[in-house]
Amino acid sequence: MKKNIIKSIKGFKDILPDEIKYYKFFEDAIGKISSQFAVEELRLPLIEKSDLFHRSIGDVTDIVTKEMYDFIDKSGASICLRPEGTASVVRAAIEHNLIYDRGLKKQKYWYYGPMFRHEKPQKGRYRQFSQFGAEYFGFSDTNSDVELLMMGDFLLKELNVENAKLHINSLGNMEDKKRYEKIIFDHLSAKKNSLDEHQKDTLAKNPLRLLDSKNDNVKEILLNIPTLYETLSALSKNRFDMLMSKLDSLKINYILDNTIVRGLDYYNDTVFEWRHESLGSQNAICAGGRYDNLVNIIGGDDVPAIGFAMGVERIIEILKFNDNFKVKKNISIGIINDSSENEVYAHSISKNLRYEFSSISFYNTDSSASLTSQLKNAIKINDKFVIVITDDNIKNKNLTIKIPENQMTDTLISLEDLIKYMRNQYE
Ligand code: ATP
Ligand code: MG
Repeated sequence: MKKNIIKSIKGFKDILPDEIKYYKFFEDAIGKISSQFAVEELRLPLIEKSDLFHRSIGDVTDIVTKEMYDFIDKSGASICLRPEGTASVVRAAIEHNLIYDRGLKKQKYWYYGPMFRHEKPQKGRYRQFSQFGAEYFGFSDTNSDVELLMMGDFLLKELNVENAKLHINSLGNMEDKKRYEKIIFDHLSAKKNSLDEHQKDTLAKNPLRLLDSKNDNVKEILLNIPTLYETLSALSKNRFDMLMSKLDSLKINYILDNTIVRGLDYYNDTVFEWRHESLGSQNAICAGGRYDNLVNIIGGDDVPAIGFAMGVERIIEILKFNDNFKVKKNISIGIINDSSENEVYAHSISKNLRYEFSSISFYNTDSSASLTSQLKNAIKINDKFVIVITDDNIKNKNLTIKIPENQMTDTLISLEDLIKYMRNQYE
């Protein structure tokens, strides 16, 4: 009878050892860069009240209308697997009084971990994926925009991700945003018959989102409207000009791109996205913007803020194609126990070696297998030599070393001499 095998859920993937090296590399890089920019880590729950996202992201966005993993739990509460990190960071910051701490009112935080969205699984789009995000609270001037963008830039350099393009735009203040929505609405309403049902729906609920539509008809209709930049209020325009001139002086390259609007309700003024063309249609690797009203919306005071979120799987996709991707790998040495009389001896050798060499991996083979198969196994994982422990070794208080490159000829050595030798060679 065929066994009924339970498989993982569609859109959720296992991360196996071959891929872990990329995640570790990413995790090392974010630790380093966050510390360079004096940004502190927060670890937040994966589950939140659904209300948090309805209130913050907005009820007309794809994330909330279609993509939320929400459930009614056993006590009847509506909860959901978090679709993004910003709302949770804001909730935690208000709840623990982080933003106003010690009267400083200026705080910088980062987070890293899985997010969940019920969208159609495809290349670069999963139902569980990871994001690294950074959020700055209490900073309203363009210096914080510059610093955050510089942090993203540093991180991409640390990751050796080349040719990422930074696209930026300004949505202006809330009135600017509304005014521009109306411009889009009026233009597309006039040609409503040429729109499909989905486009009509987006037009009614979130017209800005049509600016980044990939549909040729929509693109053509919107070709003749003024750009957001041209319609900004004086204050927002000056702010955006100042930001661009600072980026120019710092030689942070960017593209002023009118199609960057971000789907979420909470953004104002600066919005941006890093893209990497090698990824095809899911080419956004990091996205963010200013959200000066969100802290208030979630229940705190008026606190200006800006942040971004980076999609880890898309970065890893780039790393996999990077020829010069190298991680420092531990040296690995196989230890074979070929004695059935004294099984503890091999453990004591392993214990001593692990104490002495914290950065070397020692792989103990399956002592119930034959010597031949233990050797095969040890050679597969071994980098330098294989240690064999036989009854004779135990009697003579020594070890047998086999070096694959040296036709596996046996060399007898005491543990003390082996440690001395390894210290010379590997430290
Ligand atoms: P997209 O336009 O690709 O749907 P988004 O606007 O929904 O992106 P954000 O909410 O801004 O994405 O998330 C920030 C980053 O997280 C994206 O730029 C992307 O790199 C990554 N990301 C978003 N959704 C997914 C997903 N389903 N699978 C993998 N990565 C994702
Ligand atoms: Mg999306």
